[in-house]
Amino acid sequence: RQEVYRELRKKPSVTKDGVQVDLLMNAGLAVDLPQLSESGAAGIGLFRTELQFMVASTFPRAEAQERLYRDVLDAARGKPVTFRTIDIGGDKVLPYFKGAVQEENPALGWRAIRLTLDRPGLLRTQIRALLKACGGRELKLMLPMVTELSEIAQAREIIDREVRHLSRFAHHLPTSLKLGAMLEVPSLLFQLDELMKAVDFVSVGSNDLFQFIMAVDRGNTQLADRFDTLSAPFLRVLKTIADAGARNHTPVTLCGELAGKPISAMALIGLGFRSISMSPASIGPVKAMLTELPLKELEAFFKDNLMAPAQGTPMRALLQAFADDR
Ligand code: PEP
Ligand code: MG
Repeated sequence: RQEVYRELRKKPSVTKDGVQVDLLMNAGLAVDLPQLSESGAAGIGLFRTELQFMVASTFPRAEAQERLYRDVLDAARGKPVTFRTIDIGGDKVLPYFKGAVQEENPALGWRAIRLTLDRPGLLRTQIRALLKACGGRELKLMLPMVTELSEIAQAREIIDREVRHLSRFAHHLPTSLKLGAMLEVPSLLFQLDELMKAVDFVSVGSNDLFQFIMAVDRGNTQLADRFDTLSAPFLRVLKTIADAGARNHTPVTLCGELAGKPISAMALIGLGFRSISMSPASIGPVKAMLTELPLKELEAFFKDNLMAPAQGTPMRALLQAFADDR
């Protein structure tokens, strides 16, 4: 199998009927970087910057942040990299962060963009490090756990101020800056067109989005097998997002665990996703599926089945049957 996947690395990333789908990888530390060429990923769709903070015993200094980001871009050799601003809080705690508060519901609490907008010094330092590391190259930056569009506007103000500051000191700035939002909180589903217009790209964080749509703790093993990520309601949510992206010409990608399982990746592509990001080990199996996928047929399958009243057979079983028949 490994041999088959290695061979596939050289093949174009297209469906059987020739539609291109970008397979990107998730990463977070320098040790992940060799996987870029080993997996054949088209780039890094999610760089989890908080991992550097989580393995440290104090806040990483600005220079250390900048050095890591530069190493990531150097290793990517021109392939696109999307950096996510620190996503701490929730299940990701920093023992040395003295400002942390005890919360009854950390998943719904002071985390990610909520926390960094309240501690703008953290965000400012990180953004400055990213801007410097990306001098002369493109910077793609995304914000985790966005709930309201005003959070994007506030982050943009901080970014703009840092850009102005660096240009005043004649720093080498990024050639372009693309700002994206992660779609992880259901409130955004009811303002999709506004969201698509407010950003350069959207990335669905399906781990958190599923947790909040189904009201099920993503880390609770008692419930892990109870609700299905390929159930019709959740697939309809994902289709709504893909459609809104297409309608507004805003690139949409998905970077949760869902992207890494061939059957789920197949569903995503059938729903309209043309870019997905996964753990590097999943790229081979997903690409093997992709190159065998008759996309037109899958689109017709969804047209007939996705919005139809449930007939008793779960969507997962129908999708599995579709895959087995081909
Ligand atoms: C997600 O929520 O799907 C995601 C990609 O972010 P994380 O798993 O880091 O919360
Ligand atoms: Mg998340």
